[in-house]
Amino acid sequence: MANPLISNDRVAQEVREALATTLRQDAAGIDMNTSIVNGLSATSIDFLDINFRLENVFGIQLATQLLLDHVEEDLGEGKAIDRDGKVTAPAAEMLKMYLGDVPGIEAGMFADEVATVVTPQVVADGVVRVLDTLPDACTLCQATEWKSDDGAKVACGSCGKDAEYPNGDDLTKAWIADVQREQQLFGDA
Ligand SMILES: [Zn+2]
Repeated sequence: MANPLISNDRVAQEVREALATTLRQDAAGIDMNTSIVNGLSATSIDFLDINFRLENVFGIQLATQLLLDHVEEDLGEGKAIDRDGKVTAPAAEMLKMYLGDVPGIEAGMFADEVATVVTPQVVADGVVRVLDTLPDACTLCQATEWKSDDGAKVACGSCGKDAEYPNGDDLTKAWIADVQREQQLFGDA
């Protein structure tokens, strides 16, 4: 279910701000569909910094592991990345489903190159994926009324406790399990 208190525009704006601050660029000039690695010259350290900023703004925990790593961990070594370090066909299928309409994902590409297809929009989608799991009720007082003073952090409308979202890695794991159950992309692993 969509988070009723946080707009997708706000998420996009915060992703641009986080990228701009980390990479010392002008937020307004950041295209949501550019490659963060190739177009904005971000390193893996920069990604950690960008995620950290977004986690603080929204009060969430984003995934720390990539989808392919989760597949390897949950469905078995070699399922997502072959012995040459290349993405397997079913893993490429799953990545396309996960990342949405992002060009550049192909079976046989090097797993190391997957990070280059990540765009600001992909990061924003990852934030929204967590925000959309806002629970029905406060974990402290069970009230079912949420509020947001700044349009980014959500708190209980009754006791004021910050909303507790599932973390990004758990959501990714659950998503992989669902897709595998429904589509058997990886055979009957
Ligand atoms: Zn409460």
